[in-house]
Amino acid sequence: MDADYIIVNTCGFIEAAKQESINTILELAELKNRSDRKKIIVTGCLAQRYYNELAKEIPEIDLIAGISKEFNIAGMIKKDNLRNGGATAPPKDFVSYPERVLSDLPYAYLQVADGCDNRCSYCAIPTIRGTFRSKPIEKVIEEAFWLDEQGIKEINLIAQDTGRYGYDLYGRSRFTELLGSLTGFKNIEWIRLLYLQPHFINDELIDAMKGNELVLPYLDIPIQHASPKILRAMGRHGAGSDYLALIAWLRRVISNIVLRTSIIVGFPGETAADFNELVQFVEKAEFDYLGIFEYSPEEGTKAAALPGRVSGKTVKERYHQLTALQDSISRQRNENRTGKVCNVLIERATGLKDGSKESLFEGRAWWQAPEVDGYTYITGDSQCGIKPGQIVKTQVDEFDGCDFHGRIAGGPGK
Ligand code: SF4
Repeated sequence: MDADYIIVNTCGFIEAAKQESINTILELAELKNRSDRKKIIVTGCLAQRYYNELAKEIPEIDLIAGISKEFNIAGMIKKDNLRNGGATAPPKDFVSYPERVLSDLPYAYLQVADGCDNRCSYCAIPTIRGTFRSKPIEKVIEEAFWLDEQGIKEINLIAQDTGRYGYDLYGRSRFTELLGSLTGFKNIEWIRLLYLQPHFINDELIDAMKGNELVLPYLDIPIQHASPKILRAMGRHGAGSDYLALIAWLRRVISNIVLRTSIIVGFPGETAADFNELVQFVEKAEFDYLGIFEYSPEEGTKAAALPGRVSGKTVKERYHQLTALQDSISRQRNENRTGKVCNVLIERATGLKDGSKESLFEGRAWWQAPEVDGYTYITGDSQCGIKPGQIVKTQVDEFDGCDFHGRIAGGPGK
């Protein structure tokens, strides 16, 4: 590795993510011990949450920059002066630096707000990232146009609570208004909406989605459970029956809508009956994609002190049962998408197919969000002239349980 500075952007909100972050830092510490030129910088949520512990336990780290310090990193590197400033509280305003370094992929995340005012009893995020604070609307629009200038084709609007966008600055949500303003780009053709809490899914949102042809019929709506008792203990609202009604309505008003959600299994007090209610809910809801998480007791959260902890073995069994159920639902829903022509955003050209003159490409169909919903692998004539960053018509032939496979069916098109 030639780099002089290695920056590790960490996640620190559940046990598995913390462990992954720590393992990466330890691997780099080992590398550093073999080559003393390298400097290790740790930033992100783990750095914010565990500043003192990291400083004490891993002396190989040269700089720990929590989320309030992450934007000082470049300046400190320029001066070659990495100095820890101690643990700090999360920032009160949204620190906005639109002109960031992008990967060579044709999509980007556009964060519209940071922090969270919800107090889900299992979640450490509000403690780590602070209260909900929006980026001013003109800054979000400016950033979208900057991404457009860089050739980005797809933007994914994100926040911890995306639908709440604007409440802190303007006293009301301006999310739908924002959607209406995100038009007139040279390159951006897809806008995807992620992490919208169920209570922000309403007529106004649907009208705004339909009113902007760039907005994909795709929604990621975190639901977390179906049992009203568990939802209440989680500090969340509603019941499975409310969510089923919402899903049925969404499928009525946008017939081709793709729905993703996340669910936690093994929350304290989750009985066999509660889990059964969740299973029945997942069966009926038929989400296209579902992220399933095993409950992780996080220090400092209300849920970590709740009685009725579910045994690790039961949590694993429930996780596997629900995963198997959702796999069959996702398979069926995705198999229904084969045999058709659809738009695919090409992310990479991956070479020539063995023993043939066909080129291979990796991309995502419009119903696949980046990083979570798999890929679409495409073959095309080696002379087809298709390049990464183009959206191409693709004949989708097969779904293999994770990814789609297909052939180029036309040139770039919307
Ligand atoms: S809405 Fe999301 S980020 Fe906010 S407290 Fe709940 S789980 Fe955490």
